[in-house]
Amino acid sequence: MIESRCGIYCSECEYQKSMGCKGCMNIENPFWGKCKVKECCESKAINHCGECDEFPCELLKSFSYDEKEGDNGLRIVHCRMWAKK
Ligand code: SF4
Ligand code: SF4
Repeated sequence: MIESRCGIYCSECEYQKSMGCKGCMNIENPFWGKCKVKECCESKAINHCGECDEFPCELLKSFSYDEKEGDNGLRIVHCRMWAKK
């Protein structure tokens, strides 16, 4: 099941509880501000980045490989899996 635009598994995210986040697919904006990846995906009317012609773009990679908040490419792997289904 698709859980986010960028490939994060929101169901496994600690911020769901600590910040009361309902998950990427159920919110307009995340608690930390505006998400460029979410906005980009939704402007293209696609479910997640794995459905995008530009996948994996520099913006998505910059999120996924971010030193502090990144996951070393894991969300990109998830998008790839979702795109196969
Ligand atoms: S980083 Fe953006 S696209 Fe990814 S789960 Fe958070 S709000 Fe959604
Ligand atoms: S892969 Fe990049 S260009 Fe495509 S929807 Fe995601 S953020 Fe936007």
